[in-house]
Amino acid sequence: MKSVAVIGASLAGLYAARALRAQGFDGRLVIVGDERHRPYDRPPLSKDFLTGTTGQDQLALADAEEIAELDAEWLLGTEATGLDTGGRTVLLDGGRSLTTDGVVIATGAAPRRLPGPPPAGSHTLRTLDDAQALRADLTRGPVRVVVIGGGFIGAEVASSCTALGHHVTVVEAAPLPLVPQLGDTMAGICSALHADHGVTLLTGTGVARLHSGGAGNHVTGVELADGRLLPADVVVTGIGVRPRTAWLAGSGLPLDDGVRCDAGGVTPLPQVVAVGDVARAAGTRAEHWTSATEQAATAVENLLAGSTVATHRNLPYFWSDQYGVRIQFAGRRLPGDTPRIIEGSADDRSFLACYERDGHPTAVLALNRPRPFMRHRRALARAAQPATA
Ligand code: FAD
Ligand code: NAP
Repeated sequence: MKSVAVIGASLAGLYAARALRAQGFDGRLVIVGDERHRPYDRPPLSKDFLTGTTGQDQLALADAEEIAELDAEWLLGTEATGLDTGGRTVLLDGGRSLTTDGVVIATGAAPRRLPGPPPAGSHTLRTLDDAQALRADLTRGPVRVVVIGGGFIGAEVASSCTALGHHVTVVEAAPLPLVPQLGDTMAGICSALHADHGVTLLTGTGVARLHSGGAGNHVTGVELADGRLLPADVVVTGIGVRPRTAWLAGSGLPLDDGVRCDAGGVTPLPQVVAVGDVARAAGTRAEHWTSATEQAATAVENLLAGSTVATHRNLPYFWSDQYGVRIQFAGRRLPGDTPRIIEGSADDRSFLACYERDGHPTAVLALNRPRPFMRHRRALARAAQPATA
């Protein structure tokens, strides 16, 4: 393999580029990204960057020295618009194209949006540019913020806006947010953090439409499906993401809630692998930082080998910071697994809980208990490893 193109210049793309060089690939490496920024870290965008305690210069994922060592050609501000069926040519915007032996698809995901054009003051949050625009709207004195969606973006933005002194309401369509991730009991405990900090959480109702007006067509309120109208100066919508696969239409790759690939990130074309939020590996698509980083080395090993010689084995893990509480979760929880608090208490918002199925631990959740969490996470990871001879 003499040349590899990495499409998507963010977390998974950078880790794939690092893995390529670390695994001895010394050919032409081209990294294509439609954002104009070098890879930066997204988790702070809803947390310390929004509150102003982390600046843009602290978001970079690679410093100048590493960028030089990678010895890659960076095509930033460039969108990939297609992949030819043989997988050897990547089409780029402006009519350009790139011929390559191997392709790493790392195009991530984009926020789902409410229908219709967004009025001024209405935001989604995925990119640094999004975060800068939202931050600008939050520095104009105390405002009424309505957050649509009580998932990770919603909870973290609500927490940051509260820290900035804004009046916040969260609207969640489901009866309780975070149930798919944590199950009913633990989702209930985590969702109670909103009320602890004076944030109103309205559940079980969707949004009918946004109200806006004035010369700048600025948002003025959120009308709920049940007819209630919430006055709003700023609206943030966090209702999930869609994997960015539109550019692969017609490529012949199987696209089905992500790029379908095997447990090693390999698509039906062995010279094309997929990593990060866009990859649906062995039926599962992760939307978390650690998975994006860990998948890269395995997928690159398979790309260079020309077939699947390794599979992703790591235990799923994510964290979230809300209202000064660090939430950490690791494992493979299924609906019906029973959580049991084994240390601390829910009332103190500081505890460690183990999920069990048939008496065996399947996952671990901690609120502000990082050290015991790490011990349990390691034990779960060891238990999940296949037995060796
Ligand atoms: P992305 O980071 O989405 O990168 C994909 C890149 O590809 C983007 O730059 C995109 O613009 C580019 N691209 C897309 N299509 C094209 C194209 N056709 N041509 C060229 N370029 C293209 N996870 C956690 O575990 N913990 C957290 O606390 C946490 N906080 C988060 C906070 C925020 C605000 C956000 C948005 C995400 C957070 N996440 C968190 C999730 C984590 O950041 C993602 O899982 C991770 O960014 C996925 O990396 P990725 O490289 O696969 O995708
Ligand atoms: P998310 O975690 O999937 O949560 C979206 C929430 O919005 C869900 O609870 C969903 O309910 C609800 N919802 C959907 N449509 C709605 C509507 N019309 N009105 C009100 N609520 C609605 O997605 P997200 O919070 O938007 O986050 C986006 C991405 O960033 C995800 O990939 C996430 O993993 C990532 N992220 C991760 C972290 C972290 O790990 N700490 C932090 C920030 C962002 P249903 O489930 O019923 O649809």
